[in-house]
Amino acid sequence: MEFCSLGSGSSGNAFIVKNNQTLLMVDCGFGLKETIDRLERYQIHPSKITAILLTHEHEDHIKGAFILANKFQIPIYLSYGTYQMSHKKINDGYKIKFELINNFDSFMIDNISVSPMPVPHDAREPLQYRFDYKDKSIAIITDLGKITKHVVQKLSRINLLVLEFNHDEEMLRDSDYPASLKKRINGEYGHLENKESLKLLASISHSDLAWVIAAHLSEKNNKIELVKKMIFEIVDKHKSNVGVIDQDLGLEWIST
Ligand SMILES: [Zn+2]
Ligand SMILES: [Zn+2]
Repeated sequence: MEFCSLGSGSSGNAFIVKNNQTLLMVDCGFGLKETIDRLERYQIHPSKITAILLTHEHEDHIKGAFILANKFQIPIYLSYGTYQMSHKKINDGYKIKFELINNFDSFMIDNISVSPMPVPHDAREPLQYRFDYKDKSIAIITDLGKITKHVVQKLSRINLLVLEFNHDEEMLRDSDYPASLKKRINGEYGHLENKESLKLLASISHSDLAWVIAAHLSEKNNKIELVKKMIFEIVDKHKSNVGVIDQDLGLEWIST
């Protein structure tokens, strides 16, 4: 399987997982033109997208999803709660095929197996996803306030992990964000702080974890170099590769 990202952070998220036959887009948090332009960087024409999977209804994850799905007739997979919270944004006249997910059941999209994971986050029914094809696996985990046993279980023997490293606790504390926003980000239904992400990584790290990719970094309250250094300290003994997804530049194709 291969992975790339159009960008990740509070200004927009979109990730691609593909193999020789199937091309899945996870979230579409950029506007239509921006999405098409960013897809072009990776030689993807939108008509080649097999399906879009949405994680939750926050704007940085769904901004361009419906307009793209309608224009190129791409089915959207999402939880019932995400559908309920976002369907008012669907313009009259749009014809989109929605597939509601059973949150604890794996399912196939063409030849890729998709395993949804419910996560604690301040959305109605947020999910994150694991993908399996033959003996390779990719998981994308952003937007979770707390590590759960269920998520840890679902990440067993993963080969490529995209994980939220949202903020540095001290940088957030010392930032000029209002107290209510600090509380939301730091809360159990907010976002993972660097040290929490590292804890999760340490608990699932193994010798076949070829790639660890940090995502959804706060532009104000985190630093790419800091995150990279922290990850290397955990994964070095397994010689995993480390990447960070840039908000503007995204991340080039990586193979598992
Ligand atoms: Zn987000
Ligand atoms: Zn969110």
